[in-house]
Amino acid sequence: MQPLSGQSFIGFARSQSTGPSQRCVNPATATELPTDFFQATSADVEQACSLAQAAAPVLAALGGKQKAAFLRAIASRIEAATPDLVARATQETALPEARCQGEIGRTIGQLRLFADLVEAGDWIDARIETANPDRKPLPKPDHRSMLRPLGPVAVFCASNFPFAYSVAGGDTASAFAAGCPVIVMAHHAHCGTAEIMGGLVVDAVRASGLPEGTFSMLMGSGRIIGQQLAKHPVLRAIGFTGSRAGGRALMDTAAARAVPIPVYAEMSSVNPVVLLEGALASRGDAIATGLVGSCTLGVGQFCTQPGLVILERTAAAESFVTKLSQLFTEAAEGTMLTAGIHKAYTDGVAARTSHAGVKVLARGPASGQPNRATPALFAADAKTFVADASLQEEIFGPSSLVIWCANAREREQVVTALHGSLTATIHATDAELIANAALIAQLEAIAGRVVVNGFPTGVEVSHAIVHGGPYPSLSDGRTTSVGSNAIYRFTRLVCYQNFPDAALPAELQGSNPLGISRLVNGVRQTGAV
Ligand code: NAP
Repeated sequence: MQPLSGQSFIGFARSQSTGPSQRCVNPATATELPTDFFQATSADVEQACSLAQAAAPVLAALGGKQKAAFLRAIASRIEAATPDLVARATQETALPEARCQGEIGRTIGQLRLFADLVEAGDWIDARIETANPDRKPLPKPDHRSMLRPLGPVAVFCASNFPFAYSVAGGDTASAFAAGCPVIVMAHHAHCGTAEIMGGLVVDAVRASGLPEGTFSMLMGSGRIIGQQLAKHPVLRAIGFTGSRAGGRALMDTAAARAVPIPVYAEMSSVNPVVLLEGALASRGDAIATGLVGSCTLGVGQFCTQPGLVILERTAAAESFVTKLSQLFTEAAEGTMLTAGIHKAYTDGVAARTSHAGVKVLARGPASGQPNRATPALFAADAKTFVADASLQEEIFGPSSLVIWCANAREREQVVTALHGSLTATIHATDAELIANAALIAQLEAIAGRVVVNGFPTGVEVSHAIVHGGPYPSLSDGRTTSVGSNAIYRFTRLVCYQNFPDAALPAELQGSNPLGISRLVNGVRQTGAV
């Protein structure tokens, strides 16, 4: 592996920035790691955008096979560099080696999923309405439509996923698959990991014979350099994973541009878990064990961490909460990703502890070592919860809030008051599920994924996954940031009217040379027209 230079990638060149600079910190020991990472300059932002603008039409003209080869070239380079990536990421994030290896596997899998998708080609939603010159009173024109890439996309890396939601993560993979150039804003917590990964992507761009503006990666403050990037007129969309404040700031910037652009921000989610009586009576202890595992997995630093537990006060529920409290008390502390995230967790837990309507049910053991988060379980009654929206704010870390409901009516009031989340979970017997269709419909209205008798952490990357939900979990609740449907965020429909066959994209030509599935005069088929 090349030694780290600490400089941004501006196409195939490296920035010559001389500052300001920062060092990454090992959160487990609170010690600085050696390399200085230099903030990209305004000229770097200009150059990256200008290169991306030049690359956009070239990428838009690529066929599915060429895009697939490029995505696979990135994947194979990541595979080969896994030991270097793991070695750096474990130091910068304190995430265990096995977690890093698993996340790299997921990142490679995502790239290959999108490669398979664009190679097959059906995703493009080709539709053909053939002309009818004899139609009365007016002739019918020939209309053929399909999805086209938006153009240059900025991707903001996530602190909590140094691979799967970062430089070559889901946003980048889906934007490349759509045919868009990408400019990545590296996250200050894991710049070295980003630099290694950025080098692999640049190498794949070169090897695939693509223009250098296909990919750039900027180091430095998101609030300064990221904002300049978000305002740049060349940009056509933004992908983001992080805090509600950061995502909202980018949404506001994008909306205030002379030409507003979409922001696909995954921000904050409390992932409510509703527990019904029959499930608690039949397997309350098992639910408590599973739930504490889901709440504390990865030190609670998952966007799908269950931050609310909603139940009616019954004997089975009382004994379940006693068990859950005991498990939270015994749950180990863990190192958080950054000092900032640790402080946000500590502040959030302190605010909840001092809330007049909230009771502390359990705190785990604390060693006092740097950046360690102690699990915390709280309780409030339904009326307190419904009256105070601050109790719905995400506390990013291993904490959860039990909401006691006096009866089913109060539970309904609580569920009705819930803000948007990535997931909503229900534990119930089969009979309860059938009897509570209205409750399930309420959960569906506030979440992108409804989980029955399971736990929300652990996101499967697939064609059917939905990792999205109404605001504030996502800026645009119609989309998903994980899975093959994420590609649609970076596309728009174009209709070609009365084009001669040879001038049409191959996907829409009469002979169907790519053999893809198309909707022809309302009938799905793969044949010629
Ligand atoms: P963050 O503060 O939102 O930062 C994420 C990225 O966005 C960084 O590159 C940051 O740049 C940039 N950014 C922040 N504010 C910005 C603004 N106003 N304009 C442009 N760019 C901006 O998130 P974080 O550092 O990962 O963690 C902070 C908190 O976010 C956590 O404590 C947690 O509450 C929440 N979080 C939630 C999730 C989730 O999945 N729900 C995931 C991660 C974090 P700079 O900081 O370099 O300026």
